[in-house]
Amino acid sequence: MSPLGIVTLKHGREKSLLQRHPWVFSGAVAHADGNPGGLVDVRDQRGQFLARGYYNPRSQIVVRALCWDEGEIIDSEWWYNRLAEAVRARGALLAGPHVVSCRLVHAESDGLPGLIVDRYVDDRDGSVYLVLQALTLGIETVKQQIVDLLVDLLRPRGIVERSDVDVRQKEGLPDSVGMLWGDPPPTPLVISEYERLYPVDVFTGHKTGFYLDQRDSRSWLQSLQLRDCEVLNAFSYTGAFGACLPYASRIVHIDSSHSALELARQTMALNSLQSVEVEYVCADVFQQLRAYRQAGRTFDVIILDPPKFASHAAQIERAARGYKDINLLAFQLLRPGGLLVTFSCSGRIEPDLFQKIVFGASLDAGRQAQIVAWLGQPADHPVLLSFPEGRYLKGLACRVCDF
Ligand code: SAH
Repeated sequence: MSPLGIVTLKHGREKSLLQRHPWVFSGAVAHADGNPGGLVDVRDQRGQFLARGYYNPRSQIVVRALCWDEGEIIDSEWWYNRLAEAVRARGALLAGPHVVSCRLVHAESDGLPGLIVDRYVDDRDGSVYLVLQALTLGIETVKQQIVDLLVDLLRPRGIVERSDVDVRQKEGLPDSVGMLWGDPPPTPLVISEYERLYPVDVFTGHKTGFYLDQRDSRSWLQSLQLRDCEVLNAFSYTGAFGACLPYASRIVHIDSSHSALELARQTMALNSLQSVEVEYVCADVFQQLRAYRQAGRTFDVIILDPPKFASHAAQIERAARGYKDINLLAFQLLRPGGLLVTFSCSGRIEPDLFQKIVFGASLDAGRQAQIVAWLGQPADHPVLLSFPEGRYLKGLACRVCDF
């Protein structure tokens, strides 16, 4: 007899688990018996084993599957092996010494639903800090065990918790921020990526402190070596994209957050961009772009990297209007031959829809444009084929051609 809890699915609701999608929604469950946060076996109506995972009756996603083999025992060694495998995968896929600060564990996509672990390496002394997010009750339950395993596996100098994310409310969990182990990192610490330096405040910054997921887009932009151009970096946060444009003549960072713009100043200083004229504009992007249009101001490059506009299905339409609005304004502000680098990090906005929105914006602005690059998540933010929800970030680089 299994010592684990049992969740029995309704008839005909096993398909997604059989396809190794890791979520069991409450509506698919006929009967459940388990400890909140504890392990359960999921079975079909005939009692056939389907998957093993952790259980939370308070969440809409009542089970997140961890394995599909009935013989697999989920103990400390199991967690260690999953963590080690995720770390090993990064070693093979990231660009050697140029990328040391990265995401080590990307939740469902690494077979560790609900767990995020990012590694930040301070460029000044090589100290390694980990930042952990526990998004679910199941991970919260084993959090200390995971911290101990990460210490064994990676010997970091400190582990910080940044479990202050909205999804925890759906799991019945309060926010939790602070040190989990070892020494606190300096604020900010300074990370290096493709020979650029970025200040990161892991305690108060967005996500775990930095948009590690935009690495490939930064590197792509940097590779263009754009010269003598005026750049508008909208939703700039700490100005990371600006550091990739050292030969620009002017960079205008716009963000609504004062503290982000303070770090943007440090970003510019750390990368010796003294020859670039920089403006820091603390404003609402929607209003500021309208003000530039009114004033007849134009740019050679515009980067639009807004926050998530749609968190659930009901917000898709409104989000689409928001994306259309800023992209339309951007097309109007671009000089002939100008480059629009535009992103959406709303998983709910599919890539095709995003491209249609940008197309609609170009039409309304009366500009013709060509897509010159499709941008997105780097290899340390992988997407499981069985879990397409893991894909959230997409970007288009469009060159205005006006023929
Ligand atoms: N491009 C950044 C990440 C952007 S995150 C990078 O590469 O690091 C989104 C940013 O948009 C946040 O810094 C947030 O403060 C800012 N923001 C959100 N809504 C805004 C608005 N309406 N106007 C201006 N900034 C906004």
